[in-house]
Amino acid sequence: MWRAKRERLLVLLELDKRGIDLHSVRCPLCDDHLETVKHSLLECKHASIIWEKVRSWWGFDSGIPSFGSLLPSLYHVQCSDLGNKIWQAVEWTCCYLIWKNRNHKVFKNTSWGPPVALNEIQVLSYDWIAKRCKERKIEWHEWLHNPKSLIM
Ligand SMILES: [Zn+2]
Repeated sequence: MWRAKRERLLVLLELDKRGIDLHSVRCPLCDDHLETVKHSLLECKHASIIWEKVRSWWGFDSGIPSFGSLLPSLYHVQCSDLGNKIWQAVEWTCCYLIWKNRNHKVFKNTSWGPPVALNEIQVLSYDWIAKRCKERKIEWHEWLHNPKSLIM
C-alpha cells in the first residue's frame, strides 16, 4: 500500500515510464484503460465488483474508495479513530487481493484470476485486524454480520 499510494506499484504504465519495452500498457484485465495504480486497484470493472461486495457487506450505499480514505469522508458516517483503522485494514485487504488476482492474470496468463469472494475478504481482513487490535475484542459473528458496529 505504501507503493500504491505513491504510484510506485509496478503497473504497466509505471514500467513503461522506466523504459521497459512492453507490448501494451493497457489494463491486462479489462483492456479498456491504461493500467495505472488507481485504475488497477480502484476503478477497473474487475476491482469495482470487489468494492461493491465490500460496500454491501458494510451496508454502505455507494462511494468509490481512494487510498487512505476515511470513512466519514467516504460514507458520511461518524466513527472512531479505531473505526478508521479497521476500515483502512479492510481497504488494504481488498487492494491486496485485487493485486494478487491481477498478478495471477499477468504471470499465469489466465483470463482472470480466481474470483475474489467476499468470504475471502472477510476472513483475511478479520485475521489481520482481530489479531492486531488491542483496543477491542472483535467477534467473528459481529465482523460478518454487523461490521459497522465496530467502528462507531
Ligand atoms: Zn481494467
